[in-house]
Amino acid sequence: MRLVLLGPPGAGKGTQAERISREFGIPKISTGDILREAARNGSELGLKAKGYMDKGDLVPDDVILGLIEERISSDDAANGFLFDGFPRTIAQAEGLDRMLSSRGVTLDVVISLDVTEENVIERLSRRYVCSECGRVFNLVTKAPARKGLCDACGGKLIQREDDRRETVAERLRVYNEQTDPLRGFYRQRSILAAVDGNGTLEEVYGRIRREITRGISP
Ligand SMILES: [Zn+2]
Repeated sequence: MRLVLLGPPGAGKGTQAERISREFGIPKISTGDILREAARNGSELGLKAKGYMDKGDLVPDDVILGLIEERISSDDAANGFLFDGFPRTIAQAEGLDRMLSSRGVTLDVVISLDVTEENVIERLSRRYVCSECGRVFNLVTKAPARKGLCDACGGKLIQREDDRRETVAERLRVYNEQTDPLRGFYRQRSILAAVDGNGTLEEVYGRIRREITRGISP
């Protein structure tokens, strides 16, 4: 089973990706993980990617696609995979299409988690980070034992600039602008599943699961 999960920051994408990966026995592949791994293992492509990152440049699509191809060729991806946060652009989506069709396979389902702006703002504005050790807390789902203080080290909890209301609205706007063309691309191929991402983690996972099961049954 070959899946893509699209979703804005604060949609709970990481958690859902982990559950899908566990239940369906396929590895979760994100560009961030691949780039970190590549920089560590020192392959030719990895060193190339590291060169761009060290200079603070964006890693070009052909390098990313090369690394993706290496990754999906490994044994644990033999039965499929779940892309998390990839592809990001139409060029990457087209490159992925070519790569998969040269292997005689296609994507099964592209899940787009859709959440309202209010909901994302609500979720992220409950998030606090320890100013000392970086541990993340959530005032509703993972509240610290002592108000405003880190459970692990007693450091002061602060709100990340990124998680503030105005910043969140802007991040969401940028996300939608970048992702709309991708959604159109996959809708045209009839593999886009828009999933309502509002609600509890359980509710949202139930909806994702239904779409995946529907997408892979004949
Ligand atoms: Zn701490």
